[in-house]
Amino acid sequence: MESVDALVVGAGVVGLAVARALAQRGREVVVVEAEAGIGRGVSARSSEVVHGGLYYPSGSLKARLRARSLVNSAGLGAPALAARISGVPAATLPRAYRCKGSYFALAGRAPFTRLIYPLPDAAGLGVHLTLDLAGQARFGPDTEWLTDDAAEDLRVDPARGAAFEAAVRRYWPGLPAGALAPAPQAAPR
Ligand SMILES: Cc1cc2nc3c(=O)[nH]c(=O)nc-3n(C[C@H](O)[C@H](O)[C@H](O)COP(=O)(O)OP(=O)(O)OC[C@H]3O[C@@H](n4cnc5c(N)ncnc54)[C@H](O)[C@@H]3O)c2cc1C
Repeated sequence: MESVDALVVGAGVVGLAVARALAQRGREVVVVEAEAGIGRGVSARSSEVVHGGLYYPSGSLKARLRARSLVNSAGLGAPALAARISGVPAATLPRAYRCKGSYFALAGRAPFTRLIYPLPDAAGLGVHLTLDLAGQARFGPDTEWLTDDAAEDLRVDPARGAAFEAAVRRYWPGLPAGALAPAPQAAPR
């Protein structure tokens, strides 16, 4: 059986940063990721700056690896993973609260050259304006609380458009009617 100093579960931005910091301190670190590459979870659905590249055959490490410390950086899967780690007291297990954020894109060019953040709302930063490298404007995310049993569905509901228009008009009263369209999730690369 091989032995390492630390096993980091989850290759999102948090897990990779933790693994990097540990490695820079001379620790031997292994990162395991459920997906076929790094940065395919939430980290790929916001600013899209973390991209895939590593691949670990499924199950290949589990049977022959012993780690002296375990870092749970499994993102949305962290509560479920914590529940499967032996020795973790049930009373300390965090409850998962799932909140979906949708984006709407602006047809045509925006009359802005900077990001715009309204005052935060109760659950998020507020529907803000971001501009990608091509100058395309995108508004969001909003916040939509999901029930525990709701299936993961990353599609954007067009019916949320009216609420988006209202939110954007609070700081851009001149938003043309019908100028927003659901912005699909970018596929992790
Ligand atoms: C809509 C939205 C917009 C955001 N915008 C911004 C922003 O503009 N700027 C900013 O700084 N932050 C933003 N954030 C926050 C930021 O994206 C997250 O805090 C960050 O990406 C979380 O990274 P993570 O590594 O914890 O999770 P993730 O990126 O989700 O990584 C967790 C990884 O763990 C893996 N995993 C799960 N379970 C297991 C398992 N059992 N075994 C192995 N692997 C497992 C998953 O596949 C995943 O790859 C935004 C978040 C959201 C939801």
